[in-house]
Amino acid sequence: MAKRPEKRNLPLHIITGTTNVVRVGDCVLMRPSENDKAPYVARVDKIEADKNKHTFVHVTWYYRPEESMGGRREFHGSKELFLSDHHDVQSAYTIEGKCTVHTFKNYTKLKCVGPDDYYSRFEYKVATGDFIPDRVAVYCKCEMPYNPDDLMVQCEHCKDWYHPGCVGLTTEQTKQLAEFVCSDCSASLKKSVNTPVPLSSGKVLTELACFFSCCAKAPEEVSGAVVKMDEDSFHHAHQDFVQCTALELMPVLFIYYLISVVSCFCQ
Ligand SMILES: [Zn+2]
Ligand SMILES: [Zn+2]
Repeated sequence: MAKRPEKRNLPLHIITGTTNVVRVGDCVLMRPSENDKAPYVARVDKIEADKNKHTFVHVTWYYRPEESMGGRREFHGSKELFLSDHHDVQSAYTIEGKCTVHTFKNYTKLKCVGPDDYYSRFEYKVATGDFIPDRVAVYCKCEMPYNPDDLMVQCEHCKDWYHPGCVGLTTEQTKQLAEFVCSDCSASLKKSVNTPVPLSSGKVLTELACFFSCCAKAPEEVSGAVVKMDEDSFHHAHQDFVQCTALELMPVLFIYYLISVVSCFCQ
């Protein structure tokens, strides 16, 4: 007679005391051993039952910044997690709920962040403390990676993002702004009325390791929602600038026209 396998794969698991269904690939909150700790977050890779009908889940842990070697830094958001290379097998009984770990881009597009919404922008190698990717885009005069918990304002021209505190604005003033042009762009725009200023992405890639050493500069504390200028308002502002420049040039062009007509007439 064929021997029954010790373990068999299950297509799903129903969280104890709920009707919530967990499937492979879902992200879950797992009960910590100490009650005062935040739940652990994991991705479910496999669900299986043993011969005694106990359900186990094979998981990949998400690490919170404070659990990583470098610790939490000012650019880490409160909902930030790192997808680690730490795999484990746990009793399915420790699953207390489901959650969503978004990509960073999708997280920043969420209209409303719920308590079970998290994001991950880095993979984390537990043994070495390394991150993938190891370079990160930095913004503002303080050259910090983007923390979605902090209020930022985008320059209409260079498209870089700034912390209000780094450009001499308060949070309230920033929320009232219809548009914002940074001091560098305002100066360039004044200097070159006739020469269009090239647009840059306002984004510089910097070694992530740099932020885990003493060279990291802390931006001023700001909090609140993210202020985003949409592409349309940016293009309108740019068109206004072009139209304004053309109007300012009109008298000059008219004088040129008069001189050429008079000189033609004289010949
Ligand atoms: Zn800044
Ligand atoms: Zn600018």
